[in-house]
Amino acid sequence: FRVEISPLKGNQEEKMGVVGLLTDVTERRKLERMRSEFVANVSHELRTPLTSINGFVETLLDGAVEDPATAKNFLSIINAEGKRLANLIDDLLKLSRLEDRRSKLNKQPVDLTEVIDNTVKMFAPRAWEKNIELTGELPQEMPPVPGDQGFLSQVMINLVDNAIKYTLPGGKVKIKVNFSRDEVTVSVADTGIGIPPESLPRVFERFYRVDKARSREMGGTGLGLSISKHIVEAHGGKIWATSDEAGSIFSFSLPLQE
Ligand code: ADP
Repeated sequence: FRVEISPLKGNQEEKMGVVGLLTDVTERRKLERMRSEFVANVSHELRTPLTSINGFVETLLDGAVEDPATAKNFLSIINAEGKRLANLIDDLLKLSRLEDRRSKLNKQPVDLTEVIDNTVKMFAPRAWEKNIELTGELPQEMPPVPGDQGFLSQVMINLVDNAIKYTLPGGKVKIKVNFSRDEVTVSVADTGIGIPPESLPRVFERFYRVDKARSREMGGTGLGLSISKHIVEAHGGKIWATSDEAGSIFSFSLPLQE
């Protein structure tokens, strides 16, 4: 609580008493704390690749550049870290745009078959490279879903990207769609490395990663799932995950009526 006390004066400016005002600032404090934690997290996340880039550039300048094999190795690390920095900035911009437009989604009837087909096409080369079988099991007929096509594509991209990222070569990724009378559920199942039960409830938090080193290595930002959650909830839907030794399933459902 914030306490404010001011003197209460009469017509002749004589003191008549005091007025106390108690304001419940718990919620505001919580928001302020969340904001400053977020800024600290962002700074840390931006600093890590930069520190690594600077380190390798300095070593190159100090002489490592003379050895072509070392130089090539360092340059490829600098290249990868630069890309990760760009991904991070893109994801941060997406998050802030989403927060601004929360109530102003550009909703139209969306054909989810098209969204899923495009995602499968987009990831086919990566799946092939990694020897992962990527398939979609879609119903013949699908009613349109009221939503923002661009944002819903983003959710599909994030889930399929993760499924491929966290599945070892030779594994499988399967997209399924189920309808009921009033909602559609899309699930992306993989035969990947899985998520420990204690981490499962936290994977939708900003910057949460089960294995930071692994996620970084893969160019991850730790923001994909929190962006997806934002988008699905802005559509009035739900997103969740289950996982065991056999792999993980990420699902989301969307209402069919606005
Ligand atoms: P990242 O950019 O690190 O992939 P996300 O927000 O997309 O960030 O995911 C958060 C974390 O959840 C990941 O770092 C990873 O530890 C875990 N995760 C997400 N998807 C999967 C999956 N399909 N299989 C195993 N772990 C996953």
